[in-house]
Amino acid sequence: MRLVLATNNAGKLRELRAVLAPLGVEVLPQSQFTNIPVEETGLSFVENAILKARHAARAAALPAIADDSGLEVDALRGAPGIYSARYAGPNASDRDNNEKLLRVLRDTPQNARTARYRCALAFMRWDSDPYPIVSQASWEGTIIDVPRGDGGFGYDPIFELPERGHTAAELSAEEKNRISHRGKALRELVRQLVASGILSDGGNERT
Ligand code: IMP
Repeated sequence: MRLVLATNNAGKLRELRAVLAPLGVEVLPQSQFTNIPVEETGLSFVENAILKARHAARAAALPAIADDSGLEVDALRGAPGIYSARYAGPNASDRDNNEKLLRVLRDTPQNARTARYRCALAFMRWDSDPYPIVSQASWEGTIIDVPRGDGGFGYDPIFELPERGHTAAELSAEEKNRISHRGKALRELVRQLVASGILSDGGNERT
């Protein structure tokens, strides 16, 4: 099966390919078909995932998977949330976003820095598919003061897993996929795709 992934984020592409490639799914980046981004006008991760999947399916004339994800910080009443990618501004880098978050949390004590990653995934067979398949998952952590690790992307160097004492950027790609919000949501999505006959257990397309 070939499908388009509605992102140009290299980190997400790598993580989703690692799970889907062994199932015989060829994942093509949206950039092969269009460089026009969709406006993320939804107010929740799942709404934005559906908007992105619809846009990619239309541009590529292929089934599409979209991810919309972000970080919720409890002390900030869920911010940056759906605005995680553009927290420090429209063209913010990961570093800009991390620096802004650390600045905003400067006076928040370590025991009040609980946070979680959220991920919503949407699969659409075509752009007007009225029955998107969606899955959502979370990953709990805390925001630390000094970044550590070179793996992952985004907020990973300042997102610490309390039970391990490691940041998400200190995990191997395989380990992150095994326990992350995106890895969990993706395995749930695959389970639903198999249950609805879109993918076979061995990953061979049936329909
Ligand atoms: P989106 O591309 O609009 O879904 O924005 C997702 C943003 O959330 C990313 O740019 C990161 O800032 C953040 N994010 C989502 N998942 C992760 C992750 O696994 N690690 C680090 N940051 C993440």
